Amino acid sequence: MKMNKFYIKFNLSLIFFLNTIFVCSQDSPNIIFLIGDGMGLTQISAGMYANGNSTALEEFEYIGLSKTTSSNSFVTDSAASGTAMSTGEKTLNKVLGINSINVTLKSILEICQDEGYKTALLATSSIVHATPASFYAKVISRYEYEDIALQFSKHSVDFFVGGGRNYFYKRTDGKNLIKEMDSYTFVKSMEEYNKSKASKIGFFTYDLEPPSILENRKFPLDQLTKITLSKLNSSNAPFFIMIEGSQIDWGAHANNLSYVTTEFIEFNSAIQAALDFAKKDGNTLVVVTADHETGGLALLGGKISQKKVYGKFNTKGHSATMVPVFSYGPNSESFKGIYENTAIFKKLENTLDIK
Ligand code: MG
Ligand code: MG
Ligand code: ZN
Repeated sequence: MKMNKFYIKFNLSLIFFLNTIFVCSQDSPNIIFLIGDGMGLTQISAGMYANGNSTALEEFEYIGLSKTTSSNSFVTDSAASGTAMSTGEKTLNKVLGINSINVTLKSILEICQDEGYKTALLATSSIVHATPASFYAKVISRYEYEDIALQFSKHSVDFFVGGGRNYFYKRTDGKNLIKEMDSYTFVKSMEEYNKSKASKIGFFTYDLEPPSILENRKFPLDQLTKITLSKLNSSNAPFFIMIEGSQIDWGAHANNLSYVTTEFIEFNSAIQAALDFAKKDGNTLVVVTADHETGGLALLGGKISQKKVYGKFNTKGHSATMVPVFSYGPNSESFKGIYENTAIFKKLENTLDIK
């Protein structure tokens, strides 16, 4: 009898011991969140046909639809929709990181930081533009670029790539934020970015907003994605990264379909890079969506063999149509169905609890 008791006790403590080791060795999933600004279903369709009838999105496991209205407007802007997805609360158009009753909100990126995640932001706009800013800034107006830059300089995103260098050192307050951001190594080229072993890196691609692909934008988003993912992956901590295809929206505002499709095709390569990483890694959630549709685009003709598409725009602004959500990896099944854009935050946050 005594012997049995000892064995039971011993076995129980062994189980606890093994359990501890097992839990510790299982990381929370990495999260790769890709936002195609203005990338409605028609922008995806047009870009897919222009890309030879193929997109990385075809390899995703679950598809959902997101409702994009903001707290004060049937048609959202990028600030309100970015805030909805990054913080889980609807707010007024133009507002970043603050809800409609003036409460400052924590973003999914900041929650991940609290959980010990490494973080990164990549954009083909400036880093202070509404979509990336919705992950770190708390401002009443998205157009307060110098204030947003000041907030970003005090933030601690590990790796960032985007335009907008001038907002950090050619400022009305005379501050040089780049000097003040002394925990960062700043790089000027893809080679430098790739080679640097620094734990925090800033890469300003342009002084203001980067040009379009049609105007020969440098620093392809898929290469930036691959380099950043390998940097994030070299630490033991899990990571959160937001990658924005910023200019799909700008092409649609300009009612220029080839601007839209070329920006989509570059963004699609970044999606492919993210997906390839996740497939290899096995513990990475990839979510691709849009903040809203832009242009009210209808696809009316084309020729797949010639990679040609023809469409018509209904507006120079955004529209209120639902946008698709594609997901792959741990917790991806929770992204199926139809829901408000705020639910995306909750689903991303829930992913952190998966061990
Ligand atoms: Mg937008
Ligand atoms: Mg944007
Ligand atoms: Zn827009």
